[in-house]
Amino acid sequence: MSDMIARVLKDAFRRYYRSHDVPPPPDLEKREFGVGDYGRKIVRRHISFVSPREFRRYLREEAPLYISYSVGYFERPEATPMEAKGLLGADLIFEFDADELGLFAPNDLWVCPSCGARGLVKDLKGFRVGFCPRCGEPTKVVTFPDAEREEKLKEEVETLIKDFLVDDFGISKKEISINFSGNRGYHIHVRSPALRELDKEARIEIVEYVTGQKIDVRYFFDVPRMPIVGPRPTDGGWKGRIARGVISILSSARDVSDLVRRGVSPSTARRIMRDRERIVELIRQGIWPFIDTRKADAFESVASLVRSLSPFMGKEIDTNTSVDIHRLIRVPDSIHGSTGLLAKSVDNLNAFDPYRDAVALPERPYLNLHVDFAPEFEFAGETWGPFEDINVELPLHVSIFLLSKGVASWRLTTRG
Ligand SMILES: [Zn+2]
Repeated sequence: MSDMIARVLKDAFRRYYRSHDVPPPPDLEKREFGVGDYGRKIVRRHISFVSPREFRRYLREEAPLYISYSVGYFERPEATPMEAKGLLGADLIFEFDADELGLFAPNDLWVCPSCGARGLVKDLKGFRVGFCPRCGEPTKVVTFPDAEREEKLKEEVETLIKDFLVDDFGISKKEISINFSGNRGYHIHVRSPALRELDKEARIEIVEYVTGQKIDVRYFFDVPRMPIVGPRPTDGGWKGRIARGVISILSSARDVSDLVRRGVSPSTARRIMRDRERIVELIRQGIWPFIDTRKADAFESVASLVRSLSPFMGKEIDTNTSVDIHRLIRVPDSIHGSTGLLAKSVDNLNAFDPYRDAVALPERPYLNLHVDFAPEFEFAGETWGPFEDINVELPLHVSIFLLSKGVASWRLTTRG
């Protein structure tokens, strides 16, 4: 079955690459490339191209289901092992993924691999994603297009670019490009000559600054004073970010557990919720009444809140893409072989809708699918579903999208 899907995809990809231009990544001849087949993102790597012409011909003729390129620049990109390539430098890449940021939407589907229970996130008590309400085992979440989540993702991307890369690091906007990942997030490529030669340690420092993981919050407070004077929303850099972020978290918390989940101690969380309006008003003036310096862990609650403010919330730094200079990343404007969506370069982030603007596959052929479960969702300018245990004939683009979600299977009776 997967062979047949691979053949249908290959055919559609070839037609796409024959009629659309994919701009070669900058410094093409210094990059290593990797390509993949159905279900396997990298089958072959250490590929290089000597000219844009050769790169374009490869796409037209081979139509790989995945094509990635190195964030690194090399003297001999095709050489093996890695040490023989002669590393010249590397771009700085930041990756945003809706799943890793924990952004779930009401119409996402949760599935329990243990007992087979499933349902929509909006039907879970308090939207609590994670454990099966029937058997208590961990659940998986399958995401579907959601306008509100897209907005939140874009906000994270914009925060990174504006607040950190441009304002704090002074990187020119011209050296930053954004592309949709082709699946559930965005990639930010920083191709600044000034950053290219940074070693791994320097990259780790940048990521630590952006994530705020190593920030010592005590530094921002005037400790001997009582009540404690600290960041105000109008301050610059991390100071203002801390004040604005904490105000926003406190204002939107529904109950004590919302704060405890972000690492605030239960007693402090109760104190805050009892007197929330006054506390928020005081923080606006730079006064932080809930920090009690008589306690040894006085700053723990604030530090936890600050960690939860970072755009890379919860990500482990040593596995972060930004510091891995040997990594391969999807070629912008190539098609993602799981979803059939383009890893599209985005010029106007606000106006971009991946499920409309990044659809690369055509409607034909139609595939006969069995769909287990899918909510109503928007894709390629139309509304689909809801589907539940139903056989249905759907256009290629939306079929591949559903197959990639693992909620549908292709039936052999397809008419083509
Ligand atoms: Zn279960």
